[in-house]
Amino acid sequence: MATLKICNLSKTYPNGVKALDNINIEISNGMFGLLGPNGAGKSSLMRTLATLQEADSGTASLDDIDILKNPTELRKLLGYLPQEFGVYPKITAQQLLDHIAILKGITNGNERKELVNYLLQKVNLYNERSKSVKGFSGGMKQRVGIAQALIGNPKLIIVDEPTAGLDPGERNRFHNLLADVSEDVIIILSTHIVEDVTELCSNMAIMNLGKMVYQGSPQNVINDLKGKVWQKIIERNEINEYKTNFTVISDKMVAGKPLIHVLSETNPDNGFESVIPDLEDVFFTKIN
Ligand code: ADP
Repeated sequence: MATLKICNLSKTYPNGVKALDNINIEISNGMFGLLGPNGAGKSSLMRTLATLQEADSGTASLDDIDILKNPTELRKLLGYLPQEFGVYPKITAQQLLDHIAILKGITNGNERKELVNYLLQKVNLYNERSKSVKGFSGGMKQRVGIAQALIGNPKLIIVDEPTAGLDPGERNRFHNLLADVSEDVIIILSTHIVEDVTELCSNMAIMNLGKMVYQGSPQNVINDLKGKVWQKIIERNEINEYKTNFTVISDKMVAGKPLIHVLSETNPDNGFESVIPDLEDVFFTKIN
């Protein structure tokens, strides 16, 4: 069982943007969802934990390893899948994984071959192993990305915005793969897609403007909102009026008309109906 602890972590970029504002969090094995809109600071936090950039103050540790002071030690236990997993032209899936295994210090050829074949099977790409990764679909590339992140038995795997650009089938396969590997390790999944977290994570945090605005289980935070979310289909030209008079947490178009969700302790108005809140309601409530 591994534990990741982050205490009072802060980072301000030279342009004055405070991307991390006194972050505190403790994460154990399993899949942890880090949810936030674009610009919330998720990548800044992920890059700091992946030892790719420094913080101004605060601490972060994985068990007894001080991540900020001993980046080399942490890297031995880290699997990182960045937003864009770039690949060399023409290289096959098998060659790519073999190459990364060498970089991660697996020098024994037989051991490497066995590992690479095992990983190719695990991510369901064994039959594609001799094809160029460049021609792979987005979902297949992400699975190669997970395979490379698993090399070296990591204790901590960081996955940054993994499902952006995947079609629903690919996204599903990728989710199953993550759920499968998450039993033995800490996986932090950073995303702005609420369903990714609902489907996969037993614990989560919501980040906005560099701050953690919620930490806990998706279910607890949804329960807190029960009976307080109301919906109504309105006319397009009424939106501003509703936004002035009610706490509108979201609006989306349904069959050409806005469907609004409103936060209220009691039924706000004729025509509103109560809805069972979901994580998206939570998300918009926390970041507005
Ligand atoms: P997210 O991953 O949640 O979209 P980021 O961590 O990428 O958020 O960005 C958080 C904030 O920091 C944003 O306002 C972004 O513009 C800013 N930012 C990110 N990287 C840099 C950088 N290298 N220099 C200056 N500002 C940055």
